[in-house]
Amino acid sequence: AVVTRFAPSPTGFLHIGNARTALFNWLYARHSGGRMLLRVEDTDRERSTQPAIDAILDGLSWLGLDWDGETIYQSQRAARHREVAEALLASGDAYYCYASAQELEEMREQARAERRTPRYDGRWRDRPASQAPAGVKPVVRLKAPLAGETILDDKVQGRVSWSNKDLDDLILLRSDGAPTYMLAVVVDDHDMGVTQIIRGDDHLTNAARQIQIYQALGWSVPAMAHIPLLHGADGAKLSKRHGALGVDAYRAMGYLPEAMRNYLVRLGWSQGDREFFSTPEMIEAFDLAQVGRSPSRFDFVKLENMNGHYIRSASDKDLLAAIEAALPFLPQGQDGADGKLELDAARRAKLLAAMPGLKERAKTLIELIDGAAFLFAQRPLTLDSKARDIAAAGRLHIVHLIPGLSALGEWSAANAEAVVRDYAAEHKIKLGDVAQPLRAALTGRATSPGIFDVLEVLGKEESLARLKDQSA
Ligand code: GLU
Repeated sequence: AVVTRFAPSPTGFLHIGNARTALFNWLYARHSGGRMLLRVEDTDRERSTQPAIDAILDGLSWLGLDWDGETIYQSQRAARHREVAEALLASGDAYYCYASAQELEEMREQARAERRTPRYDGRWRDRPASQAPAGVKPVVRLKAPLAGETILDDKVQGRVSWSNKDLDDLILLRSDGAPTYMLAVVVDDHDMGVTQIIRGDDHLTNAARQIQIYQALGWSVPAMAHIPLLHGADGAKLSKRHGALGVDAYRAMGYLPEAMRNYLVRLGWSQGDREFFSTPEMIEAFDLAQVGRSPSRFDFVKLENMNGHYIRSASDKDLLAAIEAALPFLPQGQDGADGKLELDAARRAKLLAAMPGLKERAKTLIELIDGAAFLFAQRPLTLDSKARDIAAAGRLHIVHLIPGLSALGEWSAANAEAVVRDYAAEHKIKLGDVAQPLRAALTGRATSPGIFDVLEVLGKEESLARLKDQSA
């Protein structure tokens, strides 16, 4: 059975590129009926604080990416990593190296002089322990093959090979006995039963080193897929300006997790020109064969459009739930002033009633809430400058419409529309010339959902009061 893993280093947030890696691992596992494991690579004890770890777990759960089994913490497995290094020492596939810092520096200088990549020259490979200098704590190095090639048949990159004479004897244990990252990854992936590694192609050269460790241990090498890193919309390496943020930042910008998933899956994976995939469709369709080899571009405009699509096609109730879930993470100011929007039962009901009109014009939850501000505004409304002009110019229409609207028995969008249309026809004016002043008076803005829906949602009393406020 397929076993994938997501192996983040806790850096304080789930970087958007890593979120895509997690998604690919998750989809691959779910597609093949396998499992996705989570391993926190927390060996850097200074950076790996609990809040940093929580930020990653939180980001994964916001995206709806669940993992199987217990979370594995790499730092807790150091004894096992050392045990494997010792087995390699015992079998003669690793050795103690006593080279001093100064010797290593000399090797580096020599390499610089010869304009080649520095490499450890293997001077302790075959020296007997009896020659060990007193008082020096050795590192443990892998006795890597000297000739031949290390070969990877990568599912995305294709066949990649390294000449073994370019790969020096890598360190497995530091002089203080701490396992290196390279050793830890191999031992953990093996012990976790990982069959398929999917990660960024910045790890491709690590793969060569790791394969050498697998081979020394006589372990089978998992299948690998190194996916191209994300670039910005301009093709340059992804930076903060391009959207290289944590997924928490996207939640705070009002994106829906399902839109985010759909956007992320299309970064590097495609199935023809198809843009939209529900989560079950994604699981069904995902395969590594369609992951491309060129870097994909992160494009905010596309993400916004996709989010708008998901907002428009969500049910009103789901959108209300999405707003409520997002509110604690959105910046202040969602109440129309500079505080937090509070939703009580009455406001929830109003929001739900206005949702069909609101969701047509919003690309993010922030825009959606902003569009709903008129629902919760206190009288007398503060009109923006455009609306002020429109309301002033159309003041007489507002005055003339008040009696007809007041006389309505049943308050509904259709009945209000009939009153407004009759008025426009009678005075031979365009509907828009009446609708715009109404909109300005009722919402304080020049754009809003359909004006008759606005009237219905606000209710008779509130609508007439707002119109009277502007008729004076
Ligand atoms: N911890 C590594 C990273 O966050 C990933 C290692 C791997 O997937 O092998 O880049």
